[in-house]
Amino acid sequence: RVAAELKYKLRHFRECFYIPKIRDLPPVDLSLVNKDENAIYFLGNSLGLQPKMVKTYLEEELDKWAKIAAYGHEVGKRPWITGDESIVGLMKDIVGANEKEIALMNALTVNLHLLMLSFFKPTPKRYKILLEAKAFPSDHYAIESQLQLHGLNTEESMRMIKPREGEETLRIEDILEVIEKEGDSIAVILFSGVHFTIDSTGCYVGFDLAHAVGNVELYLHDWGVDFACWCSYKYLNAGAGGIAGAFVHEKHAHTIKPAFFNCV
Ligand SMILES: *Cc1c(COP(=O)(O)O)cnc(C)c1O
Repeated sequence: RVAAELKYKLRHFRECFYIPKIRDLPPVDLSLVNKDENAIYFLGNSLGLQPKMVKTYLEEELDKWAKIAAYGHEVGKRPWITGDESIVGLMKDIVGANEKEIALMNALTVNLHLLMLSFFKPTPKRYKILLEAKAFPSDHYAIESQLQLHGLNTEESMRMIKPREGEETLRIEDILEVIEKEGDSIAVILFSGVHFTIDSTGCYVGFDLAHAVGNVELYLHDWGVDFACWCSYKYLNAGAGGIAGAFVHEKHAHTIKPAFFNCV
């Protein structure tokens, strides 16, 4: 019932987006479908649909650029110089954070690197990064290059965990078992989405929220997540090149110095 009510409440937002028509998409078996119909779009995990207002907003900014150039940094509806700060108030609720815990900047993978530089400080005893075996390729490469940056052997230091034979998702008990067994040597745990809440002692837990932000409710602060990053062009529909985000929990305000950035 809650889902049905929510669907009704959110329904009008559908009108705010352009939904591709089947006839404009790469060929499918057209005998099966009415090609004048809207497609049923399941690719928000790759690129969210275009909000109808985007063109208007972009034109306003292009106009401003044309008319007043550098003065646009400081004046107008959306002064460019505080472009990130003007959306922090909206973003903090989407990820469940305090304003002071987030920075909106760059792209997801850049933010992941900055966060790893902040949190991954390997020692001879604690030097591993635990992640999913089928992590998103760019996440996998980012972790690999972080290990290389510290002169670590990637085979030895990337502890990958995969679902059981015939299963699609990781079981919490399996993750906990790895943490129990190898916890002392793990420096950082990086997972995607929100499948897990992990109580780990001695290592940091970070999340890649690419597929979670704008899709499910997030409470990064209350959950005590150490760090997280996300992008805005998937379920947040910001379009390619949209500004990404980084989160560092308030509890680290005095212990972790974010590498090369500050939260708001
Ligand atoms: C989409 C996605 C990315 C993409 O990162 P970019 O820096 O925007 O290329 C990274 N990780 C995950 C898990 C993703 O789903």
